[in-house]
Amino acid sequence: MTAYVLGAEEKILQLPEEEEALKEKIAPEAEKHGISVVNAFVKVREYRGHALHHIETMAAVADLMNDSYEPGVHIAVCREGKTGELKKVPFGTRLADAADLSGAKAVEVGSHLYTPGAAQELVIDGDLNTGNGVITVIPESACLMQEGEARLLASRKNGCGKCTFCREGLYQLYAHMTDITSGKGKKEGLDMMKEIGEAMEFSCACSVGTTGADFALDSMKYFMDEFDAHIKKKNCPAGVCTCFMTIYIDPNACEGCEDCADVCPEDCIEGKAGYIHMIDDFDCTKCGKCIEACEYDAIIKTTGRVPKLPTRLVKCGKFKKR
Ligand code: SF4
Ligand code: SF4
Ligand code: SF4
Repeated sequence: MTAYVLGAEEKILQLPEEEEALKEKIAPEAEKHGISVVNAFVKVREYRGHALHHIETMAAVADLMNDSYEPGVHIAVCREGKTGELKKVPFGTRLADAADLSGAKAVEVGSHLYTPGAAQELVIDGDLNTGNGVITVIPESACLMQEGEARLLASRKNGCGKCTFCREGLYQLYAHMTDITSGKGKKEGLDMMKEIGEAMEFSCACSVGTTGADFALDSMKYFMDEFDAHIKKKNCPAGVCTCFMTIYIDPNACEGCEDCADVCPEDCIEGKAGYIHMIDDFDCTKCGKCIEACEYDAIIKTTGRVPKLPTRLVKCGKFKKR
């Protein structure tokens, strides 16, 4: 029907490459309607000038003709790295009713970021930038700077590199974000990031570039406290960025069992049986393996102040703070 309305000369139904059996099944019926069925990746450039429609759009057209069409979007909710089932949500539904937003630090809708409060108020309709896609609930335990860094790296990998603003912009934004997560971020860097992001928004030719810029710009707009914590206070509120973290052995709790030294992949724990062990902060990668190994809960991970620790080997129970 759509091909007829468009006056198309050729009708092709393109199925995923692995759906060979499905092609065999439907090809004879499709042929009766002049539709050729192929199993192939859709090459957008090859089909330039053609009308490309997703199968869901075609299904919606069929529903429309049957008078059973309900306007809406298809969404899947991603929490803690797991994407839930794809479901159709009618227009007019509150996002909070369509997705469990509990425990969110931020909510990513389409390529845009919202505070949990703002996300609660969103209503899915033609104006909300969900499109069909994934709603990601970013939990309180996540660091938004690390999330941004990961998304920028993903965009860099996906970029084809043709547009200078995408290629260079993503590189620059990623470099700034990496500085921030490694404790080298500077306040002046934020102005630069904003300028680069805004230039990318109107200069990139496709959504790969603008998606990367969206996350950076939105996080600066709504979550400046996260930037301030990392840049000014040199602290990661979620305790994720290891550069702001110290791991030390509580000299009053260590029993000198040597288990931590045995598991340390960096060999940076000094001590011997019966003596208080010490971590060499310079080589420690904050992997946390020693914490898991210590049965006495003597190894502490903190972003705060570190108490006075021994500087030489001391027998267990003999450490005195002076
Ligand atoms: S914006 Fe799109 S077209 Fe331009 S370099 Fe990035 S991926 Fe390629
Ligand atoms: S820190 Fe824990 S694991 Fe390491 S020696 Fe002391 S008690 Fe044993
Ligand atoms: S956190 Fe990892 S690298 Fe650091 S002392 Fe413990 S085991 Fe070694």
